[in-house]
Amino acid sequence: MSERPTLSAALVAAADAHSAHNYHPLPVVVAEAEGAWMTDVEGRRYLDLLAGYSALNFGHRHPRLVAAAVAQLDRVTLTSRAFHHDRFAAFCTDLAELCGMEAVLPMNTGAEAVETAVKTARLWGYKVKGVPADEARIVVAAGNFHGRTTTVVSFSTDPEARDGFGPFTPGFDVVPYGDRAALEAAVGERTVAVLLEPIQGEAGVLVPPPGYLAAAREITRRSGALLIADEIQSGLGRTGRTFACEHEGVQPDVYVLGKALGGGIVPVSAVVSSRAVLDVFTPGSHGSTFGGNPLACAVAVEVVAMLRGGEYQQRSAELGEYLHGELAELVAAGSVRAVRGRGLWAGVDVDPEFGTGRRVSELLMERGVLVKDTHGSTVRIAPPLVIAKEDLAWALEQLREVLAVG
Ligand SMILES: *Cc1c(COP(=O)(O)O)cnc(C)c1O
Repeated sequence: MSERPTLSAALVAAADAHSAHNYHPLPVVVAEAEGAWMTDVEGRRYLDLLAGYSALNFGHRHPRLVAAAVAQLDRVTLTSRAFHHDRFAAFCTDLAELCGMEAVLPMNTGAEAVETAVKTARLWGYKVKGVPADEARIVVAAGNFHGRTTTVVSFSTDPEARDGFGPFTPGFDVVPYGDRAALEAAVGERTVAVLLEPIQGEAGVLVPPPGYLAAAREITRRSGALLIADEIQSGLGRTGRTFACEHEGVQPDVYVLGKALGGGIVPVSAVVSSRAVLDVFTPGSHGSTFGGNPLACAVAVEVVAMLRGGEYQQRSAELGEYLHGELAELVAAGSVRAVRGRGLWAGVDVDPEFGTGRRVSELLMERGVLVKDTHGSTVRIAPPLVIAKEDLAWALEQLREVLAVG
């Protein structure tokens, strides 16, 4: 073993010294990436089974997306919404069509889009539903993850995300995820929206019981509340369909999108809904300097074009079937406690006796496979949808060996 610190170690130390410690990254320092593979500063290669929390559904630097970005860099990158630009109409038209909706409100990050959906629902509640001023309520699910802003963490149930950030924004009612009766009981006259992740990602890839989303649709329709689906992580091909809501034939009133919408190149998010709902906004009532900028629109238009063909959804469904088949064998063999998920997306519960999810992630990293733990003993697997089947098979072999060896 060399005594000299490696470049990786030096860069990790320098980053630790000069950055806020709001993350605890694995000690890998990436220098380059292509498709499903990343290369570190020492030239070691790693298979990426996290895909930027689904921001990289099309892999790193997909040629179509890079070409769209580069072409736009040579034309115009930012105008602000004070003026029109020539990519905005295509972005809104194409994205609305992909969603089976009518109109788009562009933002940048996921949390901003969720904030925008909350503002949309409140404004709609006062202007259209007739809820008395400042009395609108929004029903959310326990275990949710919708981002990190102060209002969004106000309705988180995760102490790590919440503690120390009060006072919190009022107006939210929390119900257990997957419980129809609780949802029905919580929706009242002043409820303007039910906000749900169709599959809870950060909670450990929790798939609700069959019929839950359809029940949420029925309850909101009956009570005149909006159903808002946060598909920031579950959407855009991740589950084998364009949207996870489609697995139950549900069309929400509002889609909240982000992550993969920016093709892993730029942050792009959006609230997508009907004309009637988004018409509650008037000039000056909401905005964003970077939202809907030309570079973001150019990349997102290409993302939507790629999804229109259906091949990525198909890949996710097929490789997902393979992935879940293999993981089921690990459950049967007793190597892992439980597996959940849909398409190319899985939450794997490791036996706590074996070690933490973090420990499994570190052991996999040593073998060239990158995953991320969540909530102690869960390892999340969400490769880019472009991953080769042989590479996925190899990664699963590494997981099997790690769990066998300890
Ligand atoms: C990641 C995520 C967000 C927040 O997105 P950011 O871009 O990190 O702000 C919101 N909702 C869900 C479901 C997410 O997975």
